[in-house]
Amino acid sequence: MMIDLRSDTITVPTPEMRRAMSAAEVGDDVYGEDPTVNRLQELAAEMLGKEDALLVVSGTMGNQVSLLTHCRPGTEVIVEQDCHIFYYEAGAASALGGVQLRALPGRRGALTAEQVEAAIRADDIHQPPTALICLENTHNRAGGAVIPLAAMQSVYALAVRHGLPLHLDGARIFNAAIALGVAAKEIAACATTVQFCLSKGLGAPIGSLIAGPRDWIAAARRWRKRLGGGMRQAGVIAAAGIVALETMVDRLAEDHANARFLAEGLAALPGLELDPAAVETNIVIFKTTALSAPALVEALRRRNLLCVAMDADRVRFTTHKDVSRADMEKALAIVKDALRQA
Ligand SMILES: *Cc1c(COP(=O)(O)O)cnc(C)c1O
Repeated sequence: MMIDLRSDTITVPTPEMRRAMSAAEVGDDVYGEDPTVNRLQELAAEMLGKEDALLVVSGTMGNQVSLLTHCRPGTEVIVEQDCHIFYYEAGAASALGGVQLRALPGRRGALTAEQVEAAIRADDIHQPPTALICLENTHNRAGGAVIPLAAMQSVYALAVRHGLPLHLDGARIFNAAIALGVAAKEIAACATTVQFCLSKGLGAPIGSLIAGPRDWIAAARRWRKRLGGGMRQAGVIAAAGIVALETMVDRLAEDHANARFLAEGLAALPGLELDPAAVETNIVIFKTTALSAPALVEALRRRNLLCVAMDADRVRFTTHKDVSRADMEKALAIVKDALRQA
């Protein structure tokens, strides 16, 4: 049996999700007439403490609809240099939005208010006007790092002071909330708009939501339509999303405990470097010194353990609902064996 730790996106819908999908009341959501989509959007808005929310196809679409709604072509967006919007969205901000990304180096994914303030453009016709600040919490490439509330609050206060919106890529905002021991809305309160994914650790098959002010969501709805993201009887998808939000949030703590367990085991192996205390959520990124990252990933794949190389010498394991503590023990034994034979 394969143990798949490539991503929390590989999770499959639960039996309860399947039942809810099959029983979902539906309508044409482009007309705003799908009752299940409307229920999901209300639930998401309430959980994030925002006026309204909108179901989109993916996290990437959610972030890009957000950028398009916040920014005009020729403006600049401040981002952290390892964030998903900069790294993994196929250049969409420039290809679709005509916006320029200003990438700043973060510490464990976090930017300081001072750093962001220094990057806000002056009122000068030579410069692209700053239109938006983006943060990512939890931060994927920083190993699922949680940005502390105080750090989010200080950047948000700065954004407000400069009259700039702040968009949070909260693909894994519920992982952050569980790790911080706060409600997701406390994190979302540090942002003008938020994107989060149903299709990662929460286990739904498809979908993300964006949440924010009512008039902003109305404008975002038009951008979603322009991009071809107006879905019809999307209640079939939304039904699984409701189950995800109602039943799958608290159990993320289990994924975090499994990630920490894995990290402690990995840290004890010669040829690997990581600090288990830095593993706060469901992502474990470690450095491999004996083998290159692609070579280690391949050696593990041959032993039925799947994971991903982040770059030449870093490997990522992601825990999720479809792996158990016993799988973690097996995974550690497999890594040990692969390193011994290398
Ligand atoms: C996965 C992810 C996204 C994008 O989600 P997709 O549904 O894969 O498009 C955005 N931001 C972060 C931080 C992610 O991890």
